[in-house]
Amino acid sequence: MKMFDLSGKIAIVTGGSQGIGFAMARGLALAGATVIITNRRAAEGQKAAEALKQEGLSAVAIPADVSDISSVAAMVSRVIKDFGKIDILVNNAGIIVRKPVEEVGEEEWDRIMSTNLKGMFFCCQLVGKEMLRSKGGKIINTSSVIATKLQPLRSVYAISKAGVSHLTRALALEWGKYNINVNAIAPGVTITPLNEKYFKEHPQELEGYARATPKGRVAYPEDYAGAAVFLASDASDYITGQTLVVDGGMSIC
Ligand code: NDP
Repeated sequence: MKMFDLSGKIAIVTGGSQGIGFAMARGLALAGATVIITNRRAAEGQKAAEALKQEGLSAVAIPADVSDISSVAAMVSRVIKDFGKIDILVNNAGIIVRKPVEEVGEEEWDRIMSTNLKGMFFCCQLVGKEMLRSKGGKIINTSSVIATKLQPLRSVYAISKAGVSHLTRALALEWGKYNINVNAIAPGVTITPLNEKYFKEHPQELEGYARATPKGRVAYPEDYAGAAVFLASDASDYITGQTLVVDGGMSIC
């Protein structure tokens, strides 16, 4: 449908090499966008872009570390040099630490916040400047259901994700008049490389999440592709500052 068509659009997906980011990147590419996969490990990003190209989709990999502003600036410059504009930014790169509050170290706090919150803010700022120049764009930030429905042992992660939802509102407030929409997707529990080792070691916890979800299962990364296409497309032009919870209903219980 034309309303959801992303043909001709240039989209950056941070953390697009695997898991939820890869599924969202694939969704945007299937809708017609050229996707730039951005992550730290260059070989993994390259592999992900190749997988999309094998399907006849348009994708390239440009590595960057979102916690390092100069690295993000270099990536954004390269995208502008090669493609001339950025229409869509999916800020999806994220990391987690699972520890009791009393054991969290300063280095862990800094590492989580540098990626999940500071990195996201400056990705928005650097790409946002290009969107201001080109008079519009769509930004989608990956939050989490944990921003509102807490789980134990994930305090710093949960705090960072609550920050993502407010960051989304703060930027939407300033940039609405410039035709830049800023929204977030809050995923529920999803099996990805982020947590597959943890859930292998804690199968009962995983079963508990599935039981506590009205849809009766945890999520697949592919469950987020439709929401990403919607928030990147003309179909969502009057939606900004919102967090779309995609969690199989888990947060209503
Ligand atoms: P994965 O660990 O599978 O993927 C994380 C991605 O982010 C990888 O591509 C990784 O690549 C990249 N990345 C990590 N740190 C950086 C960095 N500093 N700079 C650039 N890229 C980085 O995670 P998920 O797919 O599970 O998670 C994706 C997002 O969804 C995260 O924000 C996460 O918090 C959120 N989320 C996940 C849930 C889940 O249950 N899985 C639930 C709710 C939210 P590389 O290591 O090469 O840099």
